[in-house]
Amino acid sequence: MALQGIFCCEELKKSISPERNLLFYHPVFEEYGIPMAMEDGFSYMTIGFCPWCGKELPLSKREQWIKAQKEAEAAKE
Ligand SMILES: [Zn+2]
Repeated sequence: MALQGIFCCEELKKSISPERNLLFYHPVFEEYGIPMAMEDGFSYMTIGFCPWCGKELPLSKREQWIKAQKEAEAAKE
C-alpha cells in the first residue's frame, strides 16, 4: 500500500512506514503523531512539527471531519 499524505522529508516518510513504525499517520484526520500503548488499546499524541526537519506539519482535519459528520447526520433528519 502506498503511503498517502504530505511528507516534508524522507525521514518523516520513513518513520511512518510499516517497517519502522516510529510515528503514526492518520490519513482521514491528516494527523501525525507519536504512538502510545494504552491500557485500552492504541492512542497517539499529535505533533505539529516534523521532528527531523522542523517543518510545520499540515493542520489536523479532525474538526472538519467531525463537523462534516454532524452535518451529514443533520441532513438525514
Ligand atoms: Zn520533515
